[in-house]
Amino acid sequence: MNTGSAHDVAIIGGGAAGLSAAVTLARSLRSVIVVDAGEPRNAPATSAHNVLAREGGSPRELLAAGRREAHHYGADIRCDPAVAARRADDGFEVDLANGGTITARRLLLATGVIDELPDVPGVREFWGTSVLHCAYCHGWEVRGQPIGVLGTSTLSVHQALLFRQLSDDVTLFCHRMPDPSDEASVQLAALDIQVVHGIVDRLRGEDDVLRAVVLDDGHEHLIDALTVAPRFMARADLYQQLGGALTEHPLGAFIATDPLGRTEIPGVWAAGNVSDLGAMIAAATGAGVTTAAAINADLVAEDAGDAVRARAEPFPAAKGDIRDDSSAR
Ligand SMILES: Cc1cc2nc3c(=O)[nH]c(=O)nc-3n(C[C@H](O)[C@H](O)[C@H](O)COP(=O)(O)OP(=O)(O)OC[C@H]3O[C@@H](n4cnc5c(N)ncnc54)[C@H](O)[C@@H]3O)c2cc1C
Repeated sequence: MNTGSAHDVAIIGGGAAGLSAAVTLARSLRSVIVVDAGEPRNAPATSAHNVLAREGGSPRELLAAGRREAHHYGADIRCDPAVAARRADDGFEVDLANGGTITARRLLLATGVIDELPDVPGVREFWGTSVLHCAYCHGWEVRGQPIGVLGTSTLSVHQALLFRQLSDDVTLFCHRMPDPSDEASVQLAALDIQVVHGIVDRLRGEDDVLRAVVLDDGHEHLIDALTVAPRFMARADLYQQLGGALTEHPLGAFIATDPLGRTEIPGVWAAGNVSDLGAMIAAATGAGVTTAAAINADLVAEDAGDAVRARAEPFPAAKGDIRDDSSAR
């Protein structure tokens, strides 16, 4: 079998996607190393929702449990950012920030995304608590409250409609979005969604609690929560170093894969938010398992080919020996 690389699979990123892939691969007796910088995307949030059987748990505790499970099956977990990746003779080499290089036959990128937030003072401060982006993740927690929607594109109208399902007090701040179309305006009016024109200057809070949106003309609008539409940018430095290119999307940019997580670069796979911008935790977890199974199948095929060649190689030499012996008699 192939023994040149220290590990069968190096997983870069130990969030929901990377850790679930690690469990699946380690349970197939693959040698797995997970390299994780420890900055999951939902870290600013205090709770994670739509996670069956772990509903409302802490994002950090969820991943701590995932690490324990992966470790239990033999995965090696390093808390260290990966800073460089290159192809090696029979796989890949990955350099770690704190020194050292790991080698693996296959690379799984589960590095997630960076949420590029709108440049409005206060947005970053309240991000993940009362500045939200996903009606499914934290909409229930702000149900019935005054909710603002920061308009940055025509998709903001959709966000306003989604949050209107959760509250009858929704205000769309047009801010930097184009004026709503006639059709959108009719829908917004029919659902009693207030539309406020003008640029949002900042958010105002007190005692770490969001209180109001302040417009650049000084007017304040009291709200308890604000929804925004970040740009989701795949963390793909390593992929680009290996020669890969990102695929643009109206919401950001991602690594394109086939349904099993295979990228355009042979031997490199991707799962979770890095390749699916809309994946919530359950979807990222599922993608990790699916991609891990596909990687294992790929390695099984390679191992079988190696085994066939290893068995076949001695026979020509042995036949030669016999022929030589008989001609000597
Ligand atoms: C504020 C907020 C709240 C959310 N709440 C919910 C919720 O309640 N329910 C829900 O289902 N979804 C929620 N989500 C979405 C959820 O965060 C994602 O679905 C999930 O994190 C995707 O998992 P992932 O493994 O793809 O990426 P991540 O969880 O982001 O994990 C990626 C990991 O890779 C690491 N990494 C990146 N680059 C490197 C590198 N070069 N070397 C080593 N490690 C690296 C990162 O540090 C990180 O630990 C929320 C998102 C946000 C922003």
